[in-house]
Amino acid sequence: MRIADMLARSKPSVSFEFMAPRDESEVETLERTIAALAGHAPDWVSVTYRVRTGEKTLELVTRIKRHYHIEAMAHLTCANTADRTRQILNWMEREGVANVLALRGDAPTAGEPFIPADPQLAHGSDLIALVRRSGYRFGIGAACSTEKHPESPDVEHEFRYMRLKVESGADFLITQLFFDNKHYFDLVARAREAGIKVPIVPGLMPVPSRRSLAVMTAMSGATVPAGLQAAIDAAPNDDAIRAVGVRHCISQCAELLEARVPGLHFYTFNRARAPMEILAALRGQQLLAS
Ligand code: FAD
Repeated sequence: MRIADMLARSKPSVSFEFMAPRDESEVETLERTIAALAGHAPDWVSVTYRVRTGEKTLELVTRIKRHYHIEAMAHLTCANTADRTRQILNWMEREGVANVLALRGDAPTAGEPFIPADPQLAHGSDLIALVRRSGYRFGIGAACSTEKHPESPDVEHEFRYMRLKVESGADFLITQLFFDNKHYFDLVARAREAGIKVPIVPGLMPVPSRRSLAVMTAMSGATVPAGLQAAIDAAPNDDAIRAVGVRHCISQCAELLEARVPGLHFYTFNRARAPMEILAALRGQQLLAS
């Protein structure tokens, strides 16, 4: 089923991002996480893509669909040539994958520039255009930032290319993580004013640890509100930081649900505990159906 159709329903969708395992040591944790979160009946899930582990992404997406009967979207990046990209898309089509998240992708080494494998595929919008132009029938998602992308001069630049992704054929957008809902509300208001009608799903990350927060804010450009930063600074250890992160994410989600967002998309980092606690709290407050 197309994710855009789920996002058009009145009930907000709940979805999880899983990271394709980089090696065997990550498989067991991932499998446990998928099994635990599948029990929370997500409307859909997605699986990240890295060039070195691309086959694992495809294998995992088809397995989640068959074994758990959950709609699973494959991420795909500009890490491959256009020919190789078409081969991957053909394979996905044969296997019944219905949705693709078309991205440029992160550079394989943090801090280095992204070098496209094919000059025709330098940006997310190029990949979206290739998928649409080639006549595939996938639902297409794309990424967007609520704040300044680390490579952008300003949010203006970011907005221009977000619009291009929709014009190129994206059916829905998922935001990069953010910790202050104001950024999300501003982006949505601006998009609607500009005539961009596609659903914009908030991407949420409960802070897992001080170290992960530093890595993720550097990669995404997300800023940390002073109150959240102070609570993290005062926390004595990673357990306490995790609890701060969960509390903050619950209040973000509560406000987003009250504003009738199309869904909540959780960056799980292959850990089930925080999203499970957040969903239990939101269900307890009757903000989400059980
Ligand atoms: P782009 O849209 O190409 O944007 C990258 C930069 O280029 C931005 O500064 C943008 O403003 C600028 N830009 C865009 N188009 C143009 C243009 N035509 N001309 C000039 N400048 C332009 N990374 C992975 O490697 N694998 C994953 O599975 C993955 N999953 C993700 C899932 C989500 C929901 C999100 C939000 C991010 C994910 N990422 C993933 C990270 C993502 O690849 C990075 O954030 C990347 O830097 C941007 O991807 P994009 O598709 O938005 O790129």
